[in-house]
Amino acid sequence: MSRIDLHLHTTHSDGSLPPADVLALAAKAHVTALAITDHDIVTGIPEAAAAGAEFGIDVIPGVEISSFNGKSELHILGYYLNWQDPTFSGRLATLRTSRHRRNPLVIERLRALGLDVTYEEVRQLAGTESVGRPHIAQLLMKKNYVTSAKDAFDRYLAEGRLAYVARELPTPAEAIAWIKEAGGVPVLAHPMWTKETGDGLRALVTTLKETGLGGIEVHYSTHTKPQTNQYLDLAKKLDLLVTGGSDFHGLTKPDIDVGIGRGGLKVPEKLLRPLKEAAGRT
Ligand code: AMP
Ligand code: ZN
Ligand code: FE
Ligand code: FE
Repeated sequence: MSRIDLHLHTTHSDGSLPPADVLALAAKAHVTALAITDHDIVTGIPEAAAAGAEFGIDVIPGVEISSFNGKSELHILGYYLNWQDPTFSGRLATLRTSRHRRNPLVIERLRALGLDVTYEEVRQLAGTESVGRPHIAQLLMKKNYVTSAKDAFDRYLAEGRLAYVARELPTPAEAIAWIKEAGGVPVLAHPMWTKETGDGLRALVTTLKETGLGGIEVHYSTHTKPQTNQYLDLAKKLDLLVTGGSDFHGLTKPDIDVGIGRGGLKVPEKLLRPLKEAAGRT
């Protein structure tokens, strides 16, 4: 029955629940170890660790950094980082600044389409420095311009939609190097989003490994069984670590639950030890 969940978001980025509430849900789902992986921010880790001590859940410091390889957005998860490292903190701050450059441009587009929204309202609702499109989606929901976060992305916020604006992103090699320099293990998040399969995926992940990638997120809420098997096979062939998580966000991904994803997710506890060893934490 026990499981782990190495991909969770909180109110410190675009999740809708604070770390302590996420931990409470994890305890109910029999999660024995988890990683908080907020986008571009690590301020949720102390609260999560305190709640973890209370619930008897091992809390692994984590982060999720979006990168762009010239073709698609690749999200890189980082585990067991020295999250208070000043150089790393500075890099995350730069990434958050790029969000504050992009977001007002998205708002401008929405306003040009006749929607009455301001970036001040988004920032207030977000209540964090890591402001993302899901926060804009929440404001659109609140104002009844859309029926769900998915609706907001489909109509306005997703790539190619009416109010889409790209953000300056680091390359995958940069994101990987930053995580490694902070003592963490870099892992490719949700490989299904790369839209690559077969030889294309193998070539992509091989390139990432050459720049220091340590693992692949094989188990993920929306991976199908064949996808999971394909990623597992690739991890074995390329000698990469296997990880997994739900990508829980709360409100903006209402079909995803902590620990179990859409119901069928079960990330084995045995994956933790090799990850910990790779970070030199044993
Ligand atoms: P940003 O980091 O601001 O570029 O926003 C990207 C984030 O939005 C992703 O990390 C997801 O958490 C979320 N997201 C992307 N597409 C969707 C979608 N269709 N529905 C809900 N959330 C999404
Ligand atoms: Zn997110
Ligand atoms: Fe992601
Ligand atoms: Fe995520």
